[in-house]
Amino acid sequence: MNRYSRNILIKEIGEEGQEKLLNSRVLVCGCGGLGLTVIANLAALGIGHIGIVDDDVIDINNMNKIHKTEKVKRHKTETAKEFVESFNPDVDVKEYKIRLDEKNYEKIVKDYEILVDCFDLYNSKFLLNSIAVKTGKTLIHAGLTEFYGQVTTIVPHKTPCLRCILPDGNVNVKRLKDAVSPAVTQIASIEAMEVIKYILKIGTTLENTLLTYNGLKMEFKKQSIKRNPDCPICGK
Ligand SMILES: [Zn+2]
Repeated sequence: MNRYSRNILIKEIGEEGQEKLLNSRVLVCGCGGLGLTVIANLAALGIGHIGIVDDDVIDINNMNKIHKTEKVKRHKTETAKEFVESFNPDVDVKEYKIRLDEKNYEKIVKDYEILVDCFDLYNSKFLLNSIAVKTGKTLIHAGLTEFYGQVTTIVPHKTPCLRCILPDGNVNVKRLKDAVSPAVTQIASIEAMEVIKYILKIGTTLENTLLTYNGLKMEFKKQSIKRNPDCPICGK
C-alpha cells in the first residue's frame, strides 16, 4: 500500500477505497491516444486489473499522440502493457489483440465490471454500447473530434444509452476527424475520473448527463439527457 500512500491520505479514498480500486476490473476498449491515456490514469490510481482490447498496430501517424516512435508496427496492447508494467508492476494487464465483435464479446467482457469506450469509430462505439446493454455492464462513453469532446456514464436500463442520445445512428458510417492531443488527454482524464467515482461511489458521476467540452472556447457544459423508451437497444 506504500505506493498508494498519497491516494490513501485523501479521505474519499482511504485504505478501504484503495483496496476497492486494487480489486476492481476495468476493460479499456481501444488503445489509441485516448485509451493509452485512460490506461495510464487507471494504473496510477491503482486499478488492479486492466483489460485492453485493440487489434491494431502502431502506425507512424499515431505519433502525434503519445505512442513512442520506436514502437511503430508493434501491437498497441503490447506496448500499453509494457508501459504500465514499467511504472506500476502491481497492475495485472490482460491484452486482447482482437476486434471486439458480436461473436467474441461474451468471454471478454464477463471478467470486467466497467467498460471504457476509447474507440475512434462510431460503429465500434455503437457496438460497444449494445454489448454493455446486453451484458448489463456500466459503460463510460466518450466521443472526440478536433477540439471537442463528450462524455457520459451509461448504466444500462437506468440511464440513457448511446443510442438513446443518438437515435438515428447516422454517425456510424463516417469517421470523425481526429482530435488534437490536448483534447484527447482532457477527455481521457474525465473518463478515468468517472471510473474512480463509480467504483468508490463518491461524488456525482455523469449518469443521465452529457458533458461536452469545447477546447477552442475552453467551455465545459453539462446537459441532462433522458432515456428513449423506443430505443432499439435499451427500450422496452
Ligand atoms: Zn438506449
